[in-house]
Amino acid sequence: MSALKIKQIPCLSDNYGYLVHDPQSGQTTSIDSPDAKAILAALREEGWTLSHIWNTHHHFDHIGGNAELVKKTGCKIYAPAGERKMITDADQYVSEGDQVSLGAFSARVIETPGHTLGHACYIFDEEKSAFVGDTLFSMGCGRLFEGSAEQMWDSLSKLIALPDDMLIHPAHEYTADNARFAASIEPQNQDLQDRIKQVADLRKKNQPTVPMALGLEKKTNPFLRADSKVIRANLKEEGSPDAAVFAHIRRLKDSF
Ligand code: ZN
Ligand code: FE
Repeated sequence: MSALKIKQIPCLSDNYGYLVHDPQSGQTTSIDSPDAKAILAALREEGWTLSHIWNTHHHFDHIGGNAELVKKTGCKIYAPAGERKMITDADQYVSEGDQVSLGAFSARVIETPGHTLGHACYIFDEEKSAFVGDTLFSMGCGRLFEGSAEQMWDSLSKLIALPDDMLIHPAHEYTADNARFAASIEPQNQDLQDRIKQVADLRKKNQPTVPMALGLEKKTNPFLRADSKVIRANLKEEGSPDAAVFAHIRRLKDSF
């Protein structure tokens, strides 16, 4: 089986679209549809035909290109069942534990409510590639527009359980801003300081800072580090449950 191909597409001001392609079957899925024009141009560049869109959640910068892409390519839309009321044009709705296939490849759906109530992620376990929409960012996480901190903590815990070499593909380039916040929460973290330098170098060259390995995220992302003794001491949350520490960090970020 030839390897899965992934193409990252900068869209709008700070979104990333992703095309995932199986050379064997010729099937290609677009993870969300931030910008139909940019996605069509990327398809042309690669000589790929769009067979699917897999939506993560209902925000416009994730579904805005759905209608145009269906019109131009006849692709099928898969969307999270929990977003059914907001994403009404899907051909298939997917839920926790479902497997969605792309040729001979298969991705597992996990539901990650918090940013929106029906948000879902698509995990290629074998190929170590996770498409996480607006749930997890490099050194950050999605804002709680619809869900509670407890829900988001449960959702992030599902991602934390993935292997360290899982490559996380988030839908936005927010890393430099997130890094400043992360440093304010855990200035003592040397891995974080190293990552911040690396991110600054990449952004200076206008290069993406994602995808990123989950293992590095676990060492540097304060939202995944609710169990860190240092963070707990910094926030005076020594005895609190992990979800409460996470909620505290999220509140601080909202007003950072
Ligand atoms: Zn969103
Ligand atoms: Fe978004």
